[in-house]
Amino acid sequence: MSAVNAAGWRPEMGPAQHPGHENAAHLTASGDKGLMLEEPLIFELGKPGSTGVDIDATARAMSPALAKFRRKEQAALPGLTEPETVRHYTRLSRQNYAIDLGPFPLGSCTMKHNPRLNEKVARMAGFADVHPLQPQQTVRGAYEVINELAHWLITLTGMHGVAMSPKAGAHGELCGVLCIKAALEARGEDRKVMLVPESAHGTNPATAAFAGFSIENIPATAEGRVDLAALKARLGPDVAGVMITNPNTCGLFEREMKAICDAVHAAGGYVYCDGANFNAIVGKVRPGDLGVDAMHINLHKTFSTPHGGGGPGSGPVVLSEALSPFGPLPFTSRTADGVVHLVEEEDAVTTGHDRSFGRMAAFHGQMGMFTRALTYILSHGADGLRQVAEDAVLNANYVLRSLDGILDAPFGATGPCMHEALFSDENFPEGFSTLDLAKGLIDEGFHPMTVYFPLVVHGAMLIEPTETESKAGLDRFITSMRSLAARAKNADPSLKTAPHFAPRRRLDETQAARKPVLNWRGE
Ligand SMILES: *Cc1c(COP(=O)(O)O)cnc(C)c1O
Repeated sequence: MSAVNAAGWRPEMGPAQHPGHENAAHLTASGDKGLMLEEPLIFELGKPGSTGVDIDATARAMSPALAKFRRKEQAALPGLTEPETVRHYTRLSRQNYAIDLGPFPLGSCTMKHNPRLNEKVARMAGFADVHPLQPQQTVRGAYEVINELAHWLITLTGMHGVAMSPKAGAHGELCGVLCIKAALEARGEDRKVMLVPESAHGTNPATAAFAGFSIENIPATAEGRVDLAALKARLGPDVAGVMITNPNTCGLFEREMKAICDAVHAAGGYVYCDGANFNAIVGKVRPGDLGVDAMHINLHKTFSTPHGGGGPGSGPVVLSEALSPFGPLPFTSRTADGVVHLVEEEDAVTTGHDRSFGRMAAFHGQMGMFTRALTYILSHGADGLRQVAEDAVLNANYVLRSLDGILDAPFGATGPCMHEALFSDENFPEGFSTLDLAKGLIDEGFHPMTVYFPLVVHGAMLIEPTETESKAGLDRFITSMRSLAARAKNADPSLKTAPHFAPRRRLDETQAARKPVLNWRGE
């Protein structure tokens, strides 16, 4: 057997050649740099026949009746010992950036700290080991968690009912839009148009189109908000409703939301609110008071359940009294005495919930996320949740005011932002753009912000610090941003080729998508 170093490099492979990291060969024979370890594909590491477990011969011997099912050829599995497997995945995990490593300022995504208390509660056997096919009588505690969380969501949003089962924000959008469709059908109306602002998250028009609506854009004002006059002018008997994000994706509160809802209702339509940014207003504003008919809540954003590789999403949808009868089963709604009540299929008729459009999921939704979200809510309490919103907005405005004047802030002059600060590359010199600054941020040790979204500003940089960053942490980020902005302004050529210190140099993004290089030697 030839010498294999820890990274799987063998002398016959020749000098290590790393796609996007050509000079590494001059540094070390292994390709590793200090404790930044290179890692080949698992298939390059493994050898057939190698395994992490010893299966004894009697267990391996097959009964003659089963022998015909035996493979003719070896399965194309990598074949690794247990320590090789553990090291492979641990090395790969070290090339990741994570919220547990540092700030993750992705605008719109709300990458905030996931409190460990949530994890502890979610791992309690009574929650973690529940099986979806268990008899209902044996899972009363799990039902209680769903009901209690439903109660909080209904109360915080001022709405009538909630469908807990949608499994992500986009799934929740589909749920809400299907409720609108069912309500229109019940009225015997065939309204085909869904109005969506220019700044909308891509999932909004995609959802409406998927549900069979045609999409029309509503323009924005120079202030970055929905143009109410243009919206009113477009309303009519063919308009099913509007989908509006509030606070919107420019990081601004739609101050005319009530007037928007009144106008849409007067024209016979419904209002879908994309609630992905609810963390900016939780405890301060109840969307139900503004006239919203349906809104999804991303538990994985507002209520801190892990996401972005760390876990599944969960997108409960709160509904107004007008849309609640059409909500999917199981469905939770207020009863006459104000208590919330979970309605299952078997009691749909007796409870008057027989106009439901159907189901969004086989079971009740993401139980592990419900447990985490409820833990988060109960550990913060009502006053704590209000402070979450206040601190998220404070932190974003600290970033906005520390960087405006250095970067172009398109809506900076119109007042404070909500939970995220928006900048553009408007005043960068020829040849420099948002992409260069984002790549430079990787060298500085930060995950880049959201780039080129929303589409309404040139070279958008959307920064959402969240309330869980300290002032010292924000100051470090701001120092890096100022340095990068200065390098862009001075047309520093080294910024065009950043990152220089990451495991990989700047990739050709088109090639990387179309012809991905999956092998550490560039093959
Ligand atoms: C995150 C987000 C969504 C989609 O939510 P998912 O849970 O990722 O499906 C929709 N709209 C906005 C504004 C978002 O930020």
